[in-house]
Amino acid sequence: MIPSRFPLILAPTPLHRLQRASESLNLDLWIKRDDLTGFAFGGNKGRKLEYLLAEIQASGAQAVLTCGAAQSNFIRQLGVGCLMLGVECHAAVMEVPFDQGAGRPKGALGGRSGNRRLAERAKVQFHDFPDDDWEVLFAQMEHVARELESGGKMVYRIPVGGSSFLGAYAFYEAAKELTEEFDTIVFASSSGSTQVGLATYFHGKPTRVLGIACDPEPEIAQDYAALSKELARATGLPELNAEDFELNFDYVGDGYGVPSKKGELATSWLLKREGIWLDPVYSAKAFSAILANMVYNEMGKKVLFWHTGGLPALFNDPTE
Ligand SMILES: *Cc1c(COP(=O)(O)O)cnc(C)c1O
Repeated sequence: MIPSRFPLILAPTPLHRLQRASESLNLDLWIKRDDLTGFAFGGNKGRKLEYLLAEIQASGAQAVLTCGAAQSNFIRQLGVGCLMLGVECHAAVMEVPFDQGAGRPKGALGGRSGNRRLAERAKVQFHDFPDDDWEVLFAQMEHVARELESGGKMVYRIPVGGSSFLGAYAFYEAAKELTEEFDTIVFASSSGSTQVGLATYFHGKPTRVLGIACDPEPEIAQDYAALSKELARATGLPELNAEDFELNFDYVGDGYGVPSKKGELATSWLLKREGIWLDPVYSAKAFSAILANMVYNEMGKKVLFWHTGGLPALFNDPTE
């Protein structure tokens, strides 16, 4: 099956060489500008939403429900997509959802500004829950779904970050926009559809697909494998195993949603040379891995940084 698409973004997004950064690093460094999708303040979620919205529309649902952190980029963009379709958008959120094993981090960005403000302007209905483990948030989302259904609404559920197989498919397609070959593609990875899509496309090809984890959960590669299985079943694309996903956890810092020292330095570094902003939750952490690479020199000579957007988080205040 080939998923249908509801056009939203200006594709292909720009792909260009970072001249000054390349010179500073003695590296051939390029950037893919998914911060510039042209849809609802940009970011990688616009790609996923092209396929999700097509399915929402076909389903005839009156309400859409997802979950996440209150500062979620996905909720901000989903809200606009729902506005365009004329369906209600609901989001079950916590200010700081976390992994029980790692504990609740301090200094995470809260949800009173940035993305949440934009989402509220786009009429997203937030269902707020006290901070807890991600699994608790997923269960709360299901409660909200049942409540909406008991009111007679047909509800379309979307997993956190838009990572259903449709989100992964969007990134499989996105890989086809690259007109250059790279030794390594580096990007921020979290709910997984970006990495599953790119890794599926480059499976068996020489390009290394390296996700920089923005979540400290070690079992994340298993979740990616499950998503890959879903993608393979629905579309016939090859199924990848947990070992096929290369993830680096060294740049998470103090936890999901907590700006890292290295990320802040990376943001200033890139801004000064190229005039390009990074976001504190995802892209700054991923870019800090590229700067560290110059110490370990393990990415090859021609590297692509896939900028996944997230810029409204620059306007977020920390929770504490
Ligand atoms: C969601 C998001 C990511 C991670 O993408 P996934 O497909 O969820 O792994 C990276 N960067 C930004 C800015 C995001 O909003």
